[in-house]
Amino acid sequence: MAEPQARFQEANLRTERIRDLGLSIEGTRLESVITEFQAEVSALELSHLRPTFYLSTEWGVVFGSQSIALPFYLARPELEAIQVEQVGHLEGAGRAEILRYLRHEFGHVVNYAYHLFESEEWVRQFGSITQPYMEEYRPKPFSRRFVRHLPGWYAQKHPDEDWAETLAVWMTPKKDWRKTYKSWPTALAKLEYCDRIMVELRERALVETAQDRDEDVGELAYSLQEYYSKLDQGQDALPPGLEGALTAMFEDIDAPESASTEARKPASALLRGMERDLVANVYLWTGHFPERTRALVRQLALRAEELQQVYPADQETRQRIAITTFVTALAMNHVHRGSYLP
Ligand SMILES: [Zn+2]
Repeated sequence: MAEPQARFQEANLRTERIRDLGLSIEGTRLESVITEFQAEVSALELSHLRPTFYLSTEWGVVFGSQSIALPFYLARPELEAIQVEQVGHLEGAGRAEILRYLRHEFGHVVNYAYHLFESEEWVRQFGSITQPYMEEYRPKPFSRRFVRHLPGWYAQKHPDEDWAETLAVWMTPKKDWRKTYKSWPTALAKLEYCDRIMVELRERALVETAQDRDEDVGELAYSLQEYYSKLDQGQDALPPGLEGALTAMFEDIDAPESASTEARKPASALLRGMERDLVANVYLWTGHFPERTRALVRQLALRAEELQQVYPADQETRQRIAITTFVTALAMNHVHRGSYLP
């Protein structure tokens, strides 16, 4: 009989102002992950640096600050479920991934606290901090000039991100970065710089001590419903050749092409079932943004449904490979030229 009550709470969760949801790091699983992370930070022996942590809309550090923002949805499983439903993608799913993001954000903290970005050597390794920050960056997948840490070839977004990724790789326990990057000389030089500077910083005084926060969860006067309705859901124009690709991959319901006598299954269900893994993996290996891949896969599923496309049940693996390859090829086009089609 708990269901009506649960449904009432679920509705409240979406319509209540976020600041009134009582979200905090304390008492959630985030608390123990942060404690674990603080032990990693202590081991660095930076005597003056004390990063703090708060919940906000997304991961980040305000320029010049030592306060690390974590996305509020990580505070509660119900919020994670809503984030997955609305955005199709979690940044920091589980302890290991949260630590991965914390190490990256800590890179920004170190950079700002000691003004590393002002030194000649930092600029030589990573570039100028004043370079414009492009949300729509176009990475070169597998470039050996950059380390790999967060998905989407994130180090290629901006010099500040390049440094944050480098520090994150350097400080990850049990990772032998010298071995991993031994034949990537440019990335290795960045790591060697990081290895040296992090020892030098142990004795250095802080240049900044601010703990500025942006969009603290305690100040968000809008609801989850309003928050998600405003997010860019990546409704790009979809490639016009879509239908041809679907008919090449699948069969029409009344025109079996394969000799297989197995029962036929709907292509749309297969596509929908693959959405989350496709979104994550395509982002990881191509840098194509999750919201775009999601819109593409949904559009494909919708068309497959309208066209009543099917496949023989014993050919599921083949179909999964076909879909994955097709979506990845489109994603790579988009990463290289900013659109799916020439
Ligand atoms: Zn960053």
